[in-house]
Amino acid sequence: MNKVSICQNEDHGKILLGIKMEDESASLQDLLDAWQPLCDDTLIHKEYAAAFHDACKACQVNCCNTAYVIPDLIAFKKIAAHLTIGYPDFIRQYFQQDKLAAGLLRLSPDPCIFLQERICSIYELRSLICRFYICTPLHGETEELIYKISWAGGAATQVFAEQQGLLNQTGNSSRSSFDLLFLNLLEEYRHTKMVEAFLLAENYADIPLKLFL
Ligand code: SF4
Ligand code: SF4
Repeated sequence: MNKVSICQNEDHGKILLGIKMEDESASLQDLLDAWQPLCDDTLIHKEYAAAFHDACKACQVNCCNTAYVIPDLIAFKKIAAHLTIGYPDFIRQYFQQDKLAAGLLRLSPDPCIFLQERICSIYELRSLICRFYICTPLHGETEELIYKISWAGGAATQVFAEQQGLLNQTGNSSRSSFDLLFLNLLEEYRHTKMVEAFLLAENYADIPLKLFL
């Protein structure tokens, strides 16, 4: 039996997708294994996909054109390894420079730097926020869970970058209301066990899902 399963609820005629933890020992990898088929599913309603149905991998509409992605720490390390570059070069070449000055590790956007010919070029390694966002209605608790995981992962990247001396904040860059929202969230998360788990983990399988429930 899978440690995490997908369930469906109906709310005012709308189908909401959710997840159910079937086993206390489930890891973040178990959740990702249960979730990935939703990304590939062309039958479920996806609000922004062409004709409301597409696999995210093939989607030509692309939320990736405007996404605000602060990669989780596992993805950050794996993408840098895949590109065979060190972290300082990774940050210099692939992240939005004015956001770095504001203290935020945001992938270069509009469109995302990894979007090539309207397809994600690092699909198997993409960050948690990219994996979890599927533009379909979700059960409230599931939505809360996936954002909590994504924010903890992003906060861990920020903490890691600070510890490694990779973030040179000048403090004099302008910050949008979005930036401030994210900075506040990252501050809220940084001293939690969830962030600690990301800092200690090598893979998603090392991170217990129950930390986020
Ligand atoms: S990393 Fe890939 S999935 Fe994520 S925003 Fe960029 S192109 Fe899209
Ligand atoms: S979540 Fe993004 S990539 Fe997936 S179908 Fe919606 S718009 Fe397309």
